[in-house]
Amino acid sequence: MHNVYALFCFCPNISYRIGVKLFMKENLNPFAIAQAQLDEAAEVLGLDPDMHAFLRQPQREFHFTIPVKMDDGTTKTFQGFRVQYSDARGPAKGGIRFHPDETIDTVRALSAWMTWKTAVADIPLGGGKGGVICNPREMSVGELERLSRGYMRCIARYVGLFQDSPAPDVNTNPQIMAWMLDEYETIMGHREPGVITGKPQPLGGSAGRGPATALGGMFTIREAAKLLNINLNGATAAIQGFGNVGSFAHKLAQEMFGIKVVAVSDEFGGIYSADGLDYNFVSNHLAQTGKIPNCPGTEPISNQDLLELNVDILIPAAIENQLTSVNADNIKARIIAELANGPTTPEADDVFERKGIYVIPDFLCNAGGVTVSYFEMVQNAYQFYWTEEMVNQRLDEKMTNAFHAVHKMTQDKNVYTRVAAYLVAVNRVAEAVRLRGWV
Ligand code: NAD
Repeated sequence: MHNVYALFCFCPNISYRIGVKLFMKENLNPFAIAQAQLDEAAEVLGLDPDMHAFLRQPQREFHFTIPVKMDDGTTKTFQGFRVQYSDARGPAKGGIRFHPDETIDTVRALSAWMTWKTAVADIPLGGGKGGVICNPREMSVGELERLSRGYMRCIARYVGLFQDSPAPDVNTNPQIMAWMLDEYETIMGHREPGVITGKPQPLGGSAGRGPATALGGMFTIREAAKLLNINLNGATAAIQGFGNVGSFAHKLAQEMFGIKVVAVSDEFGGIYSADGLDYNFVSNHLAQTGKIPNCPGTEPISNQDLLELNVDILIPAAIENQLTSVNADNIKARIIAELANGPTTPEADDVFERKGIYVIPDFLCNAGGVTVSYFEMVQNAYQFYWTEEMVNQRLDEKMTNAFHAVHKMTQDKNVYTRVAAYLVAVNRVAEAVRLRGWV
């Protein structure tokens, strides 16, 4: 495996997509894919090789053990990570995951993608990510609190408003952020709410953080629709995933633009109605039954068929690798708005580029969440809080600018949107590194 990887690294003429296809067959890890994506951008940009080598690796990594007293009186040792991929443009920023399958390479990849996401959104932050190998579903509330506090004890000296600011991610939530914040402030002996974002609002969380990812995505859909002359009022959409991001996407698409959402789904299956699904009706059904399928007055649809519907806008908002070489040719949407992280494989990208489908790439489309996290840090620093209306208006400005910076790059360099997003982001990070005199 390493030999294939080494061959790829030292043969810059092998295109990134060929490289990734090799990787896919070899089932290589996400960090290898993240590096390959950077390699393609570096090639198009003609990036200085020394800069390229610097940007291919995380700047800093912490690996640590967290001993936790369990409810049965035993002590269990958990493995934790924090990766600060880049702090060239500002303090590192990124979530902490609690997951049984967490690996250091997943954390490295996610921290790289956070670096490009904050850069494309043009917020003055770098990229980081953290994780603990654990199964939170098998842990009591008390055990989770002791693990969260233990994690913060291990990294307290290396995080802070001006160093690195974690946030929630898979299986972590505002309560876990509150415990981590309290542990940090107890160790440091002062209040510093901006050390962590995604906090509950009474502890300094921002108004508007809940819908921020979906709302940011809506602003990018609005801009793409203008370019493609699509009238959003009455346009059709299908949304895969009805969690935090997907459910807000349904609500906002309907309320902001009059988009007709004809299909939504969750891990149990999907529902379809040619007349459109009402957000309140679907969310009441979900609240009552715990699942999307069997909603009265709708037809069942599988997750795969949902993706292939003849709609104007397709919104993957669930998990990675949903649009692949297997179904890419059958996708009929004119816009794919990637609210999920990594829903599209490189093979599917080739097909979408050929078919002229306008893909709003994940680290642009879903940058609204980290943008409002940045607003949370700003409000914490000033101890002065904004209304939700102010948050949303500033989010619109950031997302609209980011969208147009990427779109302009597609035109200037005649490249696909995902490559263009990389070019914008890598250029900005490289410029900061150069100005600091690091490379
Ligand atoms: P969530 O856990 O709240 O919701 C996930 C949804 O996807 C659920 O409805 C679940 O049932 C569904 N799902 C899971 N497996 C599925 C499958 N195989 N097929 C169809 N549906 C499936 O998660 P979320 O916070 O809404 O995140 C969704 C995506 O958005 C993820 O890729 C995440 O990384 C990305 N994202 C989230 C945020 C954020 O602020 N929450 C920010 C950026 C990116």
